[in-house]
Parts: sequence; C-alpha cells; structure tokens
Amino acid sequence: MTDHPGTEPFPDDVVMTLTHLLRPDDPVQTALLAQIPHVTIKGRCGCGCATVYFDLDTGAVMPGPIDPARHPLVAEAGIVGPCGEPLGEVLVFARDGYLSWLEVCSWSDATIRTLPSPDRLEPYGRTRVNPDIDAVQGTSAIRADDFGT
Ligand SMILES: [Zn+2]
Repeated sequence: MTDHPGTEPFPDDVVMTLTHLLRPDDPVQTALLAQIPHVTIKGRCGCGCATVYFDLDTGAVMPGPIDPARHPLVAEAGIVGPCGEPLGEVLVFARDGYLSWLEVCSWSDATIRTLPSPDRLEPYGRTRVNPDIDAVQGTSAIRADDFGT
C-alpha cells in the first residue's frame, strides 16, 4: 500500500461506488453513508488495482452500530463486463463502525485499475440465469470465508 496522507481529495468514483453499495435501509450502512463526506484517501494498493484505504475524522462522525465480533465486510457486489460476464467483485469494509477500505478483486490475472461504473456492479443474491456465473459465485463464497479479520 502506498501512503500519501492527506494529499488526495476523495475521488468521485469512490463516492459513487460507496453510495451505490451501501443501503439506507440498513442501520449500519446508513451510518457509514453519513461518514462519506468525512473520509479521505489514506493510501492505495501497491499492485495498481483500484483498492483504496480510508482515513476518517472519527471525531466528526458517529460510528456504525457494528458488533465488534462481526466480520468487517459490510457490503459487496459483483463486477460484470459489457455482456454480464463476471470480472471480479468490490467489497466495502468497516472497522470499529468506521469506513475502512474499499477492495477490488479480479477473478482473472488482469488487474482492475479503475472502479467500475454502477451499471457494472451486480448485487449478490440477484437471480442468475447463467450457470457459469453461478459457478463463479460458488468460488466467491469459498473465498469470502478465507478473508482474515
Ligand atoms: Zn491491489
């Protein structure tokens, strides 16, 4: 991860992705949505992918009502290509009730360097018609369990 604290304004594409993934009907996600104006970029992943790490003025916001024992993953969606083919996924993590990082994973060796537009994000749990996509989802479920906390 590359550090350049305080120098990078919060990019529009990160705001767009967070507001697309976080749902106002969930109390935790509502609190995280309210934190967005106070978030800055603390660093980016060193591999060149679109993963970003957040810094947050915790004195300015309320933490989300998150059980500390809960897994830090709070929201996720699949990334699909122009024909709906699965390319990867994007994940939102919070620590101690505060937005912490946004992770972009690729299913292939190709690095996803920019955040996908919201129309390329597919919430999990939606009905799938393509069995190949279901197979990829199965892989994703196994991977999610491997995430360290
Ligand atoms: Zn990376």
